[in-house]
Amino acid sequence: DIPVIAIDGPSASGKGTVAALVAQALGFHYLDSGALYRLTALAAQKHAIALDDEAALAQLARNLKVRFDRNEIWLDDERVSDELRTEIIGNGASKVAALPAVRSALLERQHAFRLAPGLVTDGRDMGSVVFPDAAVKIFLTASAEERAQRRYKQLMEKGFSANLTNLLEELRERDARDAARSIAPLKQGADATLLETTHLTIDQAVASVLASYQA
Ligand code: C5P
Repeated sequence: DIPVIAIDGPSASGKGTVAALVAQALGFHYLDSGALYRLTALAAQKHAIALDDEAALAQLARNLKVRFDRNEIWLDDERVSDELRTEIIGNGASKVAALPAVRSALLERQHAFRLAPGLVTDGRDMGSVVFPDAAVKIFLTASAEERAQRRYKQLMEKGFSANLTNLLEELRERDARDAARSIAPLKQGADATLLETTHLTIDQAVASVLASYQA
C-alpha cells in the first residue's frame, strides 16, 4: 500500500510549507488540497458562476484543467499560483468547500495523487475523509495571531499589499465558517496527533512530522 501522511489544520497555520518539506525529505508526492478548492473558486470567478450554484460549481470542479508543476499552479494554461493565495480567493474557497457536491467532485481528483512511493497532503479532511487509512495523521495549528502574521509575511513576499488587522479578522471568520459547517468541519480528528507550532520553527515542525512517520 502506498503510504499517506495527512496534515490537516486551519488556514495559514504553515501546514502547506511543512507538508511540502516533509514530501521533499522523503521523496514523496505532495498534494495541497486547499488549492483545489481555491482553483474552483477562481474558475468560478472567471466564468461568472455564483458561489452558491452547487451544480455548476461541482461540474466546474470535476473538469478543472489544472497542472501542478513544482511550486507553480496552472489553470487553463495560465499561471495562477499567486492569485490563488489572495484572501478573496481563500474566502471563496471556504464557500465552495461547504457544498457537498463540490467536495465529492474533488474526492476522486485527490485520490489520483496517491502515487508511489508515497504522498504527503494537507487540508481539512485529509485524515478523516479523503485518506482515512493514512499512515500518519497530524493536526497542525498555531494561534490566530501567529497565523495572521505568517499569512501577512507570505503576501508581502509575493508583492501583495495586506493589513494585519484585517487578515486576523478574516482568518477568524474563515475558521468559524470552516468549523461550523456540517460537512468536513475543521477540527482535530480523534486519531490525529496535535502539532502546535505557534512557538516552533518550520524545521522543528518538519522534524516532528518525520519523527511520527518513522516511529
Ligand atoms: O488551506 P487553504 O487555506 O488553502 O484552504 C482554503 C479553503 O478551502 C479553506 O478555508 C477550507 O474551507 C477549504 N478546504 C477544505 N478542505 C480541504 C482543504 C481546504 O474544505 N481539504
